[in-house]
Amino acid sequence: MDRIPVAGPWITQKEIDYVADAARNAWYERAGEYPRRFEQAFAEYVGTKHAVALPSCTSAIHLSLMALGVGPGDEVIVPDVTWIATAAPISYVGATPVFADVDPKTWCLDAASFERCITARTRAVIPVDLYGNMPDMDAIRGVAAAHRIEVIEDAAEAVGSEIAGRRAGSFGTTGVFSFHGSKTLTTGEGGMLLTDREDLHRRVLFLRDHGRAPGDKAFFNTEVAHKYKMSALQAALGLAQLERIDELLERKRAIFEWYRESLAGVDGITVNHEAPGTRNTYWMVTVIVPGWRKEDLIRLLGERGVACRPFFYPLSSLPAYARLDEARRAAARNRVSYEISPSGINLPSALRLTREQVAQVCDALKGILARPAP
Ligand SMILES: *Cc1c(COP(=O)(O)O)cnc(C)c1O
Repeated sequence: MDRIPVAGPWITQKEIDYVADAARNAWYERAGEYPRRFEQAFAEYVGTKHAVALPSCTSAIHLSLMALGVGPGDEVIVPDVTWIATAAPISYVGATPVFADVDPKTWCLDAASFERCITARTRAVIPVDLYGNMPDMDAIRGVAAAHRIEVIEDAAEAVGSEIAGRRAGSFGTTGVFSFHGSKTLTTGEGGMLLTDREDLHRRVLFLRDHGRAPGDKAFFNTEVAHKYKMSALQAALGLAQLERIDELLERKRAIFEWYRESLAGVDGITVNHEAPGTRNTYWMVTVIVPGWRKEDLIRLLGERGVACRPFFYPLSSLPAYARLDEARRAAARNRVSYEISPSGINLPSALRLTREQVAQVCDALKGILARPAP
């Protein structure tokens, strides 16, 4: 039996044509054309002045922190439940991550918990648009502004999501995206950094190219920095995907609707929330099943040919942070993260799923939940 995949892209002839054109023509004087077009189109889509195409979202967060001057002795607040890529770059720059709790409905950073985590050392906060949903950005931005804390919006999972018509990625001093193969819009591997600020844009261009600004004296580097660039082939793929963004997002929302209808009668479970005024793009359809362990659900669904993922483990519970005192404190304090994460799973949400496959997943899940949890 073929496994029903948990994540994956939707590639058409358009993407293949753009990449083929890049392979043939994106050299010599046309080498920079596709990255430039992708950056311009992406900035316009999100609604920011500048966009810089990068090899990953991880590098976009790293460069955001560097450009903002975050370093040793500083603290950066992140939600406790997110992919580790949100937090890892905080360690790259020698700063300390602080793990705030999430909201029980949106599963995104809770503004009150964020505020309680602020100390004299706090320099930045990285709210995450988890699984395509959005946190209460008004509240988070209000707290950040009152304490002079920079906001880096991790919109890796939320291309096209909106609050009151304003797009994900435009709510922070910088906004960052991922185009990993599992994400809604993909370049295989890739990322983007967005900002309205001229100075940060210039600094990011400098830091991502071995410490030299575009147009500087050749091979005469003024700082030791990084090499974080996106290739023309990746940018061609990204541009084609961006030109199909409405179709990609409609499909994501349709997949969620198929699940919602099919799971409506199942008692006690919770699926992704969409607050009034918010447009959730449902990167991953997710269910919380109280009383069940996610590892058991994933195993039993796996036996029925359904690939699922665990809801992110709280970062403060990971071996990666075992030696960090803050992780112990966060584990004792972040009640919501520790309540929802153990019984949450991501259901198959690949863009090529059929309605029949979604029905199969729901039948398998209902069959499992009809018996007591192991
Ligand atoms: C995927 C993801 C990232 C990292 O993206 P990469 O492109 O793999 O570096 C960062 N944050 C979140 C929330 C993600 O889901």
